[in-house]
Formats: sequence, C-alpha cells, structure tokens
Amino acid sequence: MMANAILVVNAGSSSIKFSLFSCQAQHRLDLVYHGGIAGIGTHPSFKAEDAQGQNLTKQTLAEGADHETAFSVMLDWLEQQEDGLNLIAIGHRMVHGGTQFTQPEKVTDNLITELEAFIPLAPLHQPHNIAPIKILQKLKQGLAQVVCFDTAFHTTQPDIACTFAIPRKYTEQGIKRYGFHGLSYEYITKALPQCAGEMPERVIVCHLGNGASMAALKNGQCTATTMGFTALDGIPMGTRSGNIDPGVILYLVEQGLDAKQLEHLLYHESGLLGVSGISNDMQELLDNPAPEAQQAVSLFNYRIVREIGSLCAAIGGLDALVFTAGIGEHSPQVRAQICQQSAWLGVELDVVANNQTATKISTDASQVSVWVIPTNEEKMIAQHTYDLLEL
Ligand code: ADP
Repeated sequence: MMANAILVVNAGSSSIKFSLFSCQAQHRLDLVYHGGIAGIGTHPSFKAEDAQGQNLTKQTLAEGADHETAFSVMLDWLEQQEDGLNLIAIGHRMVHGGTQFTQPEKVTDNLITELEAFIPLAPLHQPHNIAPIKILQKLKQGLAQVVCFDTAFHTTQPDIACTFAIPRKYTEQGIKRYGFHGLSYEYITKALPQCAGEMPERVIVCHLGNGASMAALKNGQCTATTMGFTALDGIPMGTRSGNIDPGVILYLVEQGLDAKQLEHLLYHESGLLGVSGISNDMQELLDNPAPEAQQAVSLFNYRIVREIGSLCAAIGGLDALVFTAGIGEHSPQVRAQICQQSAWLGVELDVVANNQTATKISTDASQVSVWVIPTNEEKMIAQHTYDLLEL
C-alpha cells in the first residue's frame, strides 16, 4: 500500500524551501526529503537531500525562471522518485496571521483574501508566503493546503505585553507587538517536556539563528516575546539591528535617509554584520580574533542576557532556559557566556555537558535547568497539516 506524504513549503522572495514527510501509522511523521530552490528570478538552482543530508540532486534552472517554474521543477522531481509516496496535502509557513488567527487554517479562497489583508504588516514576507498557495492551487488542483502562522503562538500574550505607548488610534490600527518564530517555540513546547519529564512552569526559549528572538512561557503559553510589530525588534541578529532607540530613526530621517534606505540599513546592514564590519555569520565571528568581531559577539550575548532579565520579570522568575536554532544549537561559547552572565538567576552551567552539546547542560544543583533542543519548524507544520485535515 502506498504511504501518504505531506509537503511543507517555506517560500521567500527568491527562494523556496521544502520538506516532504511520510505519514506513518500512529500519527508518526518522518522526513523523507528536504531541499529548496535558491536564486529565483535570477540564477535559480534546485537541490534536494534525503533525511540524512545526503545530496540527491543539484540542478540549474533556466535563467530568470519564476516561482511557478520553480514549483513545477520541484513537483516533477518529487513525482519521479520511486518512493511509493502519495502526496495528499501541503502545509505552508505564513508569517502573519494578525491577532485573529490563533491556530492553523485550511486554505479557502476567503482565507487567501484575509491573508492578503496582512500584507501591509509584513510586506517583505507575506506576499511571498501567499503566492505559492495560488501557484499550487493551479499546479495541484484539489490538493488540500494548510497555512501555519508564525504569529499564532504569541496570541496568548496579555494585551499589556503587546501594547506600544503610542496614541490609541494607532494601536487600534494594529500597530502593536505580535511576535514571530512561533512555530519554533511551539515545537519546543512539545519537545521540552519529553526532555525534562514535565513542562517547567516558567521557561525562556532563546531561538538564536540568523533571525533571533526569545520568548517567555508560563505553563507552556507565550507571555512575552522580543520580536514585536515586525521581526526587526528585540535582540541583534545576523544583519538586523534588533531593538533601537526610535530617536535614532528620527535622527537618520533628518540626515536625509528615506524609508527604503532605512529599511536596508536596519534589515540588511546592521546586527552582527554592522557591528563587526566582517560577517553576519556567528561561526565566522567566533573564529575571528579581530576586536570588532569579538565586540559583535559580546554585544549579541549582552543583549540576550539583558532580555533574560526582562522576560523573567514578565513571568516572575525562571525554572528552565532553552537554547535552539543555528547558534543556540551549535555554539557552546555563546551558551556559556549567556549562562555565566545569568548566574545571578541561579543558572549553573555543566561545562562538560555544554561543550559536548548534551541535551541538558546545567548541573544537577542548578536552580534553573538549561537545555539545548534542536527546533523543527517544518515538522510542526507537517504535524498541524496532518492534525487539521484529520489524515
Ligand atoms: P536561519 O535563521 O537562517 O534559519 P540558522 O538557524 O540556520 O539561521 O542559524 C544560522 C546561524 O547559526 C549562523 O550565524 C551560523 O554561523 C550559526 N552557526 C551554525 N553552526 C554554528 C557553530 N558550530 N558555531 C557557532 N555558530 C554556528
């Protein structure tokens, strides 16, 4: 009998990432392939790997090929695989669901219209998350599609955590804190109890990738998070500034920078890259003895430590600290600095366990347990798609 499969799509302006999960008995989802198409619109190339990361194909597409062509190539490749898998649904990552979407949703024409209403809130991402749904409605007529929101997990935040101190009329227009990386945090809420034996009451999760944010969870629900109206807020990232005095923006406007130039400065020239002047890549900076590289790393860690203090205040203390995403999962040095500077909270690092990247990296005597848990947003999307469609 053919096994069913779910395709997970995470699409950006010039790239599409995909993962294919097979649906096994007992609600088990196993990764079969993952890969993507980069350089869409310029020099596109397609690659796919198996679940162990073994390369299965690398192909160059026609110069200038668009998203629709890219999806055709990907779907054709999937169909050519003699794996006995039958594609039954597609799950999408959707950056914005406003305050009304607190759960994943099945795609309908009405839903697409509602999703389009959020484009002004996330103009750099939302259109590129929506476009593939329409392309796949055409290329795979009748196939069920589900959208999973990056904002949904954060809709449990109290109003006070979401409100900017600006005139109410702007808040009523939707200028408030939403929060992102929700699928990653949700995955951690499933994985942490499996590691710790139960869900600790007060948890801070540090999602430290190229994009980075943190969330404070009380009994598994989001109470506060560092990203806000956009994914620019909070801690410094690879190329994003994170939290910045709004007076700096006013000053730069006075200096003659326009909206596009400011957008570029804050999203693409700041963060680790801006401070170091060398790279946005943490691994490269850690290996580079230049004082500018070291300052960028120190600032990144310092700002995280400051946010830990702030998020602790939102949940009244701390029982567990979780590190995830590229930097959180792979850098003992960053974790050690953050934990050492959080010793005042009762965090005691097990140095050997940290250097070995064990799952638990705090000592038994530590008042706060510290964990390294690889995140898996794609699996979360596949799981939601499976559950929502009752497959
Ligand atoms: P994205 O937000 O793009 O998904 P990732 O979660 O893949 O990002 O994280 C990318 C970051 O992780 C980069 O800054 C990279 O240098 C860092 N990283 C990956 N491996 C290591 C490592 N061994 N040591 C330090 N940093 C690492």
